[in-house]
Amino acid sequence: MRRRKSLLDTLDQSVRTKLLALVLAPLLIGVPVLLALVWTWGNQAYHRLLSFKIGSDLVTAHEYFDRVQQGVGADLQALASSVPVGALLARPVEPATADALHGMAVARGLDFLHLLDHDGKPLASAGGRHLPSISRASWAVVDSAMGGAPRTAIELFPPADLAVIDPALRRRAHLPLVDTPAAVPEDRNSEDRGMVIHAAAPVFDAFGHLVAVLEGGVMLNGNLAIVDRINAIVYREGSLPLGSVGTATLFLGDTRIATNVRLFEGERALGTRVSRAVREHVLEGGRVWQDTAFVVNDFYVSGYEPIEDSAGERIGMLYVGFLEAPFRHARTWAMGALFAVFVVISIGGTVLSLRFARTVFRPIERMNAVIQRVGAGDADARVGPIASRDELGRLAIEFDHLLDTLAAKREELQRWADELDSKVAERTAELAEANEILRRAQQQLVMSEKLAAIGELTAGVAHEINNPVAVIQGNLDVLNDVLGPQAEPVREEIRLIHQQADRIRQIVTKLLQFARPGEFAGYAENVAVNAVLADCVLLTRHNIDKRRIELVQALDASGTVEINRSELQQVLINLIVNAVQAMPEGGRLSLATEDREDEGGQPGILIRVRDTGQGIASEHLDRIFDPFFTTKKGSGTGLGLSISYTIIERYGGRIHVDSTPGEGAEFSVWLRREAHFDDAPNAPDFRARWASGAGKHTA
Ligand code: ADP
Repeated sequence: MRRRKSLLDTLDQSVRTKLLALVLAPLLIGVPVLLALVWTWGNQAYHRLLSFKIGSDLVTAHEYFDRVQQGVGADLQALASSVPVGALLARPVEPATADALHGMAVARGLDFLHLLDHDGKPLASAGGRHLPSISRASWAVVDSAMGGAPRTAIELFPPADLAVIDPALRRRAHLPLVDTPAAVPEDRNSEDRGMVIHAAAPVFDAFGHLVAVLEGGVMLNGNLAIVDRINAIVYREGSLPLGSVGTATLFLGDTRIATNVRLFEGERALGTRVSRAVREHVLEGGRVWQDTAFVVNDFYVSGYEPIEDSAGERIGMLYVGFLEAPFRHARTWAMGALFAVFVVISIGGTVLSLRFARTVFRPIERMNAVIQRVGAGDADARVGPIASRDELGRLAIEFDHLLDTLAAKREELQRWADELDSKVAERTAELAEANEILRRAQQQLVMSEKLAAIGELTAGVAHEINNPVAVIQGNLDVLNDVLGPQAEPVREEIRLIHQQADRIRQIVTKLLQFARPGEFAGYAENVAVNAVLADCVLLTRHNIDKRRIELVQALDASGTVEINRSELQQVLINLIVNAVQAMPEGGRLSLATEDREDEGGQPGILIRVRDTGQGIASEHLDRIFDPFFTTKKGSGTGLGLSISYTIIERYGGRIHVDSTPGEGAEFSVWLRREAHFDDAPNAPDFRARWASGAGKHTA
């Protein structure tokens, strides 16, 4: 069951097997069926043909046998009306009569010849034998002749009759029976009856009166001349295929009494008997047998017909037949040849079909393979050129076209997708930038509001403080002048008051500078950065040395930048002082300058101030440029970096910080060779500028 299922599965799944089944089924099923039919019909035709032939053979044999009988009758009639017989009757019977009859019998080939009187009693006998003086009218032919009508019939003569007529006939009739396997069992050892062609003819005198009867006969037992003659007539030379042998036989009852059928030693098969089947069919049934039968030692195509005596009793059979083997061989050979031809045609057809089928399923298999490869992701798989120009070939070409079109479409889609991706990325980036700008703008807004308020407040307060401070300082100078030497004991206190008042004025000035930077801006000039830096070092040298700070300088910048010199100095001093303050226990202060273009190719100079101090906590990084942000409680104002930032920004430069807490900080200042003032010294601009730097550690 499983095997059948898998076979069906295979059939169902493979076009190749389906095609092969389609092509081979008619050959492999049709040819054997055709062979079987040809075999059956051929056999039937063969048997019909043989049956027809044996039928016609039997008719020929029958006619000849009739002619022989009629010949015996005709001979008797001729003798009866002959002059010599008339002469014999004219004389009394004498020994010469017997001799004369003997001469006639020999001349006509008769086995016996009797002259009877008109009552049927024997007058004389050929050979001079003395027959009992009893009328032979009991024999039908004699009785008929006595009535004036000549007659011929086949009769069985009992052995005693034969002995009376001629002991030689009696001896000739004696035939030992040969044991025959298929025959009906028989008690007798021999056949002693004689089968005789018995004829009688009336002899008339000149007046037409019946005066005598002539009775004669030919015994068929052992009469090989007749069977050989029948055989020669029925089976003329060349009428049978090579190797076949024609046979003829006369049966007495079921026993062969005259035959040319040979036994194994080449001897005639006299005394052998017919098979039970034939005996029952012909002798008992009275029908003609036309079929193959086993005769003595081989199969013969046989025809048997019954022989009847004068009373209509079946007393024997006439047989003709021919050896079947050569026909059978011819048939077998023909069938074999036919079979071979069919086999050759089948094999040839199969091979051709396979070849032809291959041209059909090749394209299909290739297309299937391509479909699988395409399914597995190989978009370049194609069927390629195909030899066949039929529908399948065109289908393969169309299939490739389809795949090409699909690939082109897919590529186009991919291109679109890529474009879309990049556009999305672009838009996302733009959006992020816009968001950032928005965020900054919001921060700026908040910060600028705050700073605006602080600025206004600071400006107001600064002015209010400056005046009293100026009054204090003025009056202090007056006090000093008025007291003169009397002021000597409090000179130190006066100096301290002066100093502190000055400090107040400086802070207020810084505040004002922060609140209204434009008012403090000096003129811009081309400043040599390295020289300014050298001045700054000079001014802060005392602080540096005091804290045993190592100073490293790499001043590689070559040109100048456009800026107000004292403002640049203020920025750098602020950075150096912050660095020094970050290293209370000493350390290294590195100052470096170099020529550096910005990302847009704008020429400028980069100044770096690096220390190895405590660094800036990451949470402070964002806030150190904010105004008033300081970690130096008491001593710091938190304005140094924010003012520096404002100054650098004003000239279109940038300031940036990097720091690793515990390791130090580095401030970088980049300045354009040619300053770029994109602002005016008024409040809104001030706000915007400060807001943009607020909360950032870079600008
Ligand atoms: P101030 O020095 O008066 O505090 P600044 O605006 O100059 O005001 O500096 C703000 C803050 O930035 C400082 O209080 C300090 O915390 C930090 N800072 C600036 N420079 C350095 C530096 N080189 N190392 C460590 N911290 C620094």
